[in-house]
Amino acid sequence: MKIERITLTHVRVPLVEPFKISNGEVSEKDGILVGVASEGVVGWGEASPMSGGFYSLDTPESVWDDLVGKLIPGILRKRPNSIGDVNSLLDGTDASPFAKAGLETAFWDLEAQKLNEPLFRTLGGTTGSIESGLAVGIYPTVNKLLSAIERYLREGYKRVKIKVQPGWDIEPLLAVRGEFGRIPLMVDANCAYTQKDLDHLKAFDDFELLMIEQPLAKEDLEGHATLQAMVQTPICLDESAKDSATVRKAIDMKSCRIVNIKIQRVGGLMHAKDIHDLCAQAGVPVWAGTMPELGIGGVQTAHLGTLSNFAYPTDVESSSRWFVDDIIEPLIEVKNGLITIPPGTGNCYTVSEPKLKQYELRKQSFL
Ligand code: MG
Repeated sequence: MKIERITLTHVRVPLVEPFKISNGEVSEKDGILVGVASEGVVGWGEASPMSGGFYSLDTPESVWDDLVGKLIPGILRKRPNSIGDVNSLLDGTDASPFAKAGLETAFWDLEAQKLNEPLFRTLGGTTGSIESGLAVGIYPTVNKLLSAIERYLREGYKRVKIKVQPGWDIEPLLAVRGEFGRIPLMVDANCAYTQKDLDHLKAFDDFELLMIEQPLAKEDLEGHATLQAMVQTPICLDESAKDSATVRKAIDMKSCRIVNIKIQRVGGLMHAKDIHDLCAQAGVPVWAGTMPELGIGGVQTAHLGTLSNFAYPTDVESSSRWFVDDIIEPLIEVKNGLITIPPGTGNCYTVSEPKLKQYELRKQSFL
């Protein structure tokens, strides 16, 4: 494949409200947009770590350094001819999965554009529409949580996910069930509990949740298996599900009944698809999670989420849900709880160069 240029742009867009989970809080969203120009077409990807070690140890700065120092030189030297070749090159390094995802997904956009089809079709999906779920962070008071949910539910989201941590779980769950009745509801703990909390976590069964996402530490597959045997609610793994081998092990150990697949966490679309396929074979449903990413990462997750074993609404939400602005055109919109990918090829959304410039922190090109 003839690669003419790779461009990195680090952007920062303010959030409409701070996002707090059990690990920390952010008020701005950083993303590194990766543009790969080849034979008259530009493919776009996004590397989207949260700042400040919010979700993992990866930061925008460390991911930038990985792209510049570990990944782009190899791609320019070897000039890969296929997505498989790109992945072999990336997997031969110890770069962060966020950096790999940013570069790898740009090649998928290129590939789909060259095939003159939308990305979801290149991935193996048949429909360009996907259900969207609302995710809300931890709020200072239960009343603030309820009013946030009420405000966003008007957009028709198909389920609600609330973040929980020790001391912020039963009370908000009682309040949400009391206020909104039997809406499809789930919780995400981002690893906030330990095996000492197993009896406490049993009480979550009373709320008839769709799933309990990542209650324990990411390495603790055994603890998750013990908990899954104690509760009726399905356990869903997120942080733990870092690659196919770990997901296979978690399924064999009965540590979960559902898997959240994130393109950023697993290092790109090919690995995400592999995990989707192995879960499908094992009869384990999956769904598509987000960091949340800016528009390019978001729409690529929406494309991925159209594959057949994605059985729950995705975390991809309207651009306006999280960001004061977004770097794509059109913006992502949720209507009646659905994201409908517009007609087009590749990502089917365009990166806006003026918006990139407006939110740019730094930019670098490689020939
Ligand atoms: Mg999660």
